[in-house]
Amino acid sequence: MDVEPTTATTAKGASGPPDWEYGRKAVLAVWKACRERDLFPSFFLHPEAILAQAELFRDLEKQGATLGLHLHPQKWSAYRHGGKKYFKDFGLLNAQETREILKETIPIFEKAFGHHPFYFRPGTFSFNDAQFAILAELGFIGGSVSAPERVVPHKSAVWAGAELDPHYANDVFRVTRGDSKFIELPLSVDTSTLFTTGQVKHYADLRADTVWSGYSLTYTDIANNIVAQMQERNPAIKTLVSVLHNDEAYFDAEDPFAQNMIQSFDAQIQACKDAGLKYAGVTAATVIEMAKTTLVRAMPQVSLQASMYER
Ligand SMILES: [Zn+2]
Repeated sequence: MDVEPTTATTAKGASGPPDWEYGRKAVLAVWKACRERDLFPSFFLHPEAILAQAELFRDLEKQGATLGLHLHPQKWSAYRHGGKKYFKDFGLLNAQETREILKETIPIFEKAFGHHPFYFRPGTFSFNDAQFAILAELGFIGGSVSAPERVVPHKSAVWAGAELDPHYANDVFRVTRGDSKFIELPLSVDTSTLFTTGQVKHYADLRADTVWSGYSLTYTDIANNIVAQMQERNPAIKTLVSVLHNDEAYFDAEDPFAQNMIQSFDAQIQACKDAGLKYAGVTAATVIEMAKTTLVRAMPQVSLQASMYER
């Protein structure tokens, strides 16, 4: 779950809960729905949320949640710098700005939780080629940075051709696997149909805050497709990675997105069962720990073949 700052603390027009109490209720509703299904969520926290809600997340961490850092630089910019620096998406930060904003926000996490942040997700999956290396250099060991085949050029979120399964990231070329110290857990996507509107492209995924019926899809369809495609790829680590946000009324059983959340969780669990997979509702930290001993940390093989794709 991405935990955004409130709309009162951030840039005009940015996403976020109307106030911290609403955000707290959304977080606790997600926690409750997860725990009722033996799932554990990972919370990627925007720095303002850490400043305002440290106690809430300290408590959830004690109970088994994983905490990581989440950044939309323009939101942090509006809150801390009056929009004067970093007023852009994460993928548009140059290397120096990336280091600077992380070095500015990491201590906020450390002060609140008594340890370094090890996990990261940028806002909008906005990311560039320099940034895996910088995250690794600053002590992050993994996260969920990519949304395979998402192409949103105006948000500098371009993941055409990206790996679909957990892998060691590549410090030079973000979409391929490599020998970075950073382990990437891509958003799980249903590769059946690439939805395209002009330059913007995306696959369906398991998020609750989208009306997938508008794409003629149910959560059962999406979860079944993702699991079937994963079974066919047969990766070293089989994961379902989703995203939620603290600005939806997950605490209100009548809210359509709250109902989507339940449908999504139940569809994921059922799809695993139907495929004969035993599901374990673990956090990003557990998967990344498992990945360290399971995945191959190596750059892609160099080829001297000359097929039409290599000319
Ligand atoms: Zn966000």
